[in-house]
Amino acid sequence: MNILVINCGSSSLKFQLIESGSEEVLAKGLCERIGLEGARLVYQPKGGEKEITNAEMDDHKTAIELVLSSLVNPETGVIRDLGDVGAVGHRIVHGGEKFAGSVKITEEVIQAIEECNDLAPLHNPANLIGIRACREIMKDVPMVAVFDTAFHQTMPAKAYLYGLPYEYYTAYKVRRYGFHGTSHHYVSHKAAELLGRSYEETKTIVCHLGNGASICAVQNGVSVDTSMGLTPLEGLIMGTRSGSMDPAIIEFICKKENLSVDEVMNILNKKSGVQGISGIGSDFRDIIEEMNKGNDMAKLTMEVYCYNVAKYIGAYTAAMNGVDVIAFTAGVGENNPLIRKKVCEYFGYLGIEIDDLQNEKRGEDLVISAPQSKVKVMVIATDEELKIARETLANI
Ligand code: AMP
Repeated sequence: MNILVINCGSSSLKFQLIESGSEEVLAKGLCERIGLEGARLVYQPKGGEKEITNAEMDDHKTAIELVLSSLVNPETGVIRDLGDVGAVGHRIVHGGEKFAGSVKITEEVIQAIEECNDLAPLHNPANLIGIRACREIMKDVPMVAVFDTAFHQTMPAKAYLYGLPYEYYTAYKVRRYGFHGTSHHYVSHKAAELLGRSYEETKTIVCHLGNGASICAVQNGVSVDTSMGLTPLEGLIMGTRSGSMDPAIIEFICKKENLSVDEVMNILNKKSGVQGISGIGSDFRDIIEEMNKGNDMAKLTMEVYCYNVAKYIGAYTAAMNGVDVIAFTAGVGENNPLIRKKVCEYFGYLGIEIDDLQNEKRGEDLVISAPQSKVKVMVIATDEELKIARETLANI
């Protein structure tokens, strides 16, 4: 069956068409600047060239119509007609406490997702627009919602409660939810496979280090703690997000710079992290280029970033009373051997040793720790779309 995986943002829509039997990606692409000037569709069929079409897209419905017409285009399309799309899987950012797994989309499910909107006001409304647009166009095609938060619903109260008045939890559901669940689930499962051990008997720490970044402790197949919180701002230092810090800093900066809370929140989300510290940018390729030229701020940023990742790994090793595998994934985790090496240098006491030759390899899932290393360290390419397609197939 062909499964269309949709990831809708407020002005963008990413898609992949995946054949569920072979798990091959038949086509993929994205619509950018939906509802804005200069909108465009990028479409790439399997084994083919990228096509870029500039086209006005007033809304997400127009965007989806354009995607579907590309998929059936007689020249570069990959299916004959829309009847060849068997199901649609939607990535949904926040499922609150309502969703501990993927679900088939019904009117009640849409309503329940809507009730989670205030937990993710930037993301969930956009995800819902995508669902509604698809339902309008592909009326009878079954659709499944796959949540970024669902995998972490197994966390115990000791991991998800904040040190706040308890009524903020009961009244407003203020607690740790965690994100990147699809990736943490996929990668931790793959790690156990690569290790040749049962998923249900393995302790894994997944370091999803992308532009957004989070760490997850997966014990015996379930998430027991993760670094992102009520929102994706908490935890690691990220490309442009601050990660965890003293909450009193917000008031302090508001007063010093005469800014509103909203303005400071914008700085914490978009102008902090790697970009904020380095003053160079949020992309580690630029940081490494500057480090090689001797730029001290680039070096300092690298130190702070790796130390931060190492602290979480240490904390989650304690949380699980041990660790069998540390798995690096996402843009930085998959492509940056220096960060992996520097992070692992903190764990001599765990008997971790990195095999430098393995660590420099690219393009495959591999073990980068030396054979004698007590804890295995791996690089595993995440594939959130494939995981969404699998979840969709399992829930229609
Ligand atoms: P993601 O959000 O998973 O797509 O990750 C994006 C980030 O990955 C970029 O901002 C870069 O910092 C990092 N990245 C991607 N490719 C490379 C690379 N070849 N070397 C170092 N960092 C990379």
